[in-house]
Amino acid sequence: IVAQREPLMVETFSPAGTAALGEKLAPLLQAGDILCLNGDLGAGKTSFSQGVALGLGVRDHVTSPTFTLINEYQGRLPLYHFDVYRLEVPEDMEDLGYEEYFYGSGVCLIEWANKIEPLLPRERLVITLTREETAEDRRRITFSPLGERYQPLVEELSKLVRTGN
Ligand code: ADP
Ligand code: MG
Repeated sequence: IVAQREPLMVETFSPAGTAALGEKLAPLLQAGDILCLNGDLGAGKTSFSQGVALGLGVRDHVTSPTFTLINEYQGRLPLYHFDVYRLEVPEDMEDLGYEEYFYGSGVCLIEWANKIEPLLPRERLVITLTREETAEDRRRITFSPLGERYQPLVEELSKLVRTGN
């Protein structure tokens, strides 16, 4: 059994701070990476995604693909941005051909990933965003690597966060 690293916990204090964290993660990403974004409406999943896109060199304006379920962007790597909040049945994911994306050559960012848990690859990076009741603009963001693949990535990110780079 591989010892799982402790989740990395980071706090942000503005939407820009959350995006900056996503931007920091972007250079560490590789083709085939699966990033699962969980958290309530307004938690900051899209803000984080915008930062990842920026860091990957995507030039388009990134918004939640709430009605289309997926938006595709081209940066250093293809970026497949899902938002499955409105997904009604898992068959809609089949119709989308989700496996082509999950096991493809881009990076997948999946807002509300917990809604499609059974479809997710076993190895994935789970990013959970939570609001604090006491502070309007504060968000707690945890990075939990599931499987070995994402452990070095979280390790690297924690160094970048600690050194303020
Ligand atoms: P989600 O995609 O999870 O629904 P969004 O990123 O679309 O969330 O929206 C987050 C909302 O919370 C925005 O209105 C943003 O201005 C606000 N906000 C306040 N503080 C933060 C923060 N620290 N990080 C991210 N968003 C924040
Ligand atoms: Mg969103």
